[in-house]
Amino acid sequence: MTSVDKNEAMNQLTSILLLFSASLLAACNLPSKQTQPEAAKGQGSPDFSRDPHSYSNPEQIKVRHLDLDLQVSFEKKTLEGSATLTVERASASDSAPLVLDTQDLKIARVEAAQGSAPFQPASFTLGAPDKILGASLTIQLPPTADRVRIHYSSSPTAAALQWLTPAQTAGKTHPFLFSQSQAIYARTWIPLQDTPSVRLTYAATIRTPQDRRALMSAENDPHAQRSGEYRFKMTQPIPSYLIALAVGDLVFKPLGERTGVYAEPAMAAKAAKEFEDTEKMLVATEKLYGPYRWGRYDLLVLPPSFPYGGMENPRLTFATPTIIAGNKSLVSLVAHELAHSWSGNLVTNATWSDFWLNEGFTSYVTQRIIEAVYGAERAAMEEVLERQELMELLRTLPEADQVLHINLTGRDPEEGVTDIPYAKGAAFLRHLEKAYGRARCDSFVRSYFDHFAFQSIRTSDFVNYLNQHLIAPAAAAGGPSVPVDEWIYKPGIPASASQPSSPVFTKVEQQAQEWLSGQLPATKLHTGKWSYHEWQHFLRSLPTPLPKERMAQLDTSFHFSQSGNAEILHQWLLMAIRNDYAPAYPKLEEFLVSVGRRKFLRPLYTELVKTEGGRQRALSIYRKARPGYHPIAVATVDEILKWKEASGN
Ligand SMILES: [Zn+2]
Repeated sequence: MTSVDKNEAMNQLTSILLLFSASLLAACNLPSKQTQPEAAKGQGSPDFSRDPHSYSNPEQIKVRHLDLDLQVSFEKKTLEGSATLTVERASASDSAPLVLDTQDLKIARVEAAQGSAPFQPASFTLGAPDKILGASLTIQLPPTADRVRIHYSSSPTAAALQWLTPAQTAGKTHPFLFSQSQAIYARTWIPLQDTPSVRLTYAATIRTPQDRRALMSAENDPHAQRSGEYRFKMTQPIPSYLIALAVGDLVFKPLGERTGVYAEPAMAAKAAKEFEDTEKMLVATEKLYGPYRWGRYDLLVLPPSFPYGGMENPRLTFATPTIIAGNKSLVSLVAHELAHSWSGNLVTNATWSDFWLNEGFTSYVTQRIIEAVYGAERAAMEEVLERQELMELLRTLPEADQVLHINLTGRDPEEGVTDIPYAKGAAFLRHLEKAYGRARCDSFVRSYFDHFAFQSIRTSDFVNYLNQHLIAPAAAAGGPSVPVDEWIYKPGIPASASQPSSPVFTKVEQQAQEWLSGQLPATKLHTGKWSYHEWQHFLRSLPTPLPKERMAQLDTSFHFSQSGNAEILHQWLLMAIRNDYAPAYPKLEEFLVSVGRRKFLRPLYTELVKTEGGRQRALSIYRKARPGYHPIAVATVDEILKWKEASGN
């Protein structure tokens, strides 16, 4: 490739294949399993009542605080110890048992106590396990008991936890452990009320081998010595899906006064350089939406098997190394996770049907941060790319899954993780901004964050607040109307939605046309200063099928098969599969074996299985790759390939 961008990126190619992402969705772009939720309805439709993804009974008895004391065993691949829950009954006369969520936990014993009195044994029963929800843990408590201690251990196959061998890390010397609790995996390592409608504070003592460092989504001391025993406190109430743990050979690099990055030593300098604008982003977001309320904002760069782009664990975003491109072109992922400090972590979806409240707001705020820090041109390009992915998805996604307020009853919440909550949610907010004006809309969003701070809310709470504070006052003054019901409860995109555009992309499309029509050879295209975004748009502008010799011309001129930018490489590999461009296959295998980010895995494997030859290739690659993937990614790819573990397929 001739551009500075690409050359830089190529120099960054490391053995762990670092790539990244601009649209940074923790999610994938593909339709999930089809089901038939209720027909979409307008306002006044049921809010699907209680959280269908939890056995717990917080309306009777609620967990307020968690004290964890866990031993991390890399040999056994378990966490073992106790969880002590402080609980509060809705009514003092109520004697309902405490019902918790668990999955694959081994419960040794349970005790209960009142105040500072000694713990006494309590009886408990584990329900029959459900494939999605796990098993309920029902604990009989004396009516006055307010503390419950569960002694337990996690399973080596706990869905939230990935135990990496040294070979699977950047440094190759120490094993590594990390958790991913969203959406309903916290229950695979902690017995609790695993619903985002319940917020709790927590404290933890984590015991590890002495040469490793533990970090949590809590107050971390950047200067803590490695002692093998680490204590954490999260004093602000958070939902269970934000409880997170990582243990490994980790060092810290400061980025700004309140910001820094943890990474393996081999990655630390590169990560600090890539993320050097984090403090600027933080300041820009505060200017838009009010103070950052979580103390420090640090990032943790995980090994490449992390199944998501990023996870907004409070105070400590977990991030894939595939966003380290060497030129900050994919740091919108950092903006996204930072934005969650307002939308998601501060104001939280109360059930996974309300997930768009987390991700739609966050995707919108991300664009605003990018605009503030990197300018309107880049923000516009990212918005166009995001909309392209959304429109592509809408072509195939079942209509019932195209609504923002999705019905996930009886389904895995993962099925709601598509571009809909992200990109459609953001497009809705963009529509509000255009209709009511930026100043007014900004002030509305800021007051929304303030009003619902540290609360978990439903879609109906948002709609009521929106009507009261933006729509009704504007209507009274003869202002515009926005089809809110259509946005939230109907499939597709309202016809009145604004269409994002980028003049820069128009030029890219002209270049693509000139090349396609044979007017210009690839080497003569004006690509010298193209950013990652322009390259991405260029590739997406090309038709399928594209003859192999045309693919080869592009590859020879721009070295796409060697790209160090994960998003570009991913796009190119998709095109290679669609056009059966064999020279890219070694890279395809290298990529799929070394990177476990689901956003990339799902489209690539899905594309591969469309032909018998591709299916055989997919199986051959997956045999090598599967042991290195996180359980969440394994579950996804198993389903795409109809993998049966016993037979190795
Ligand atoms: Zn997000």
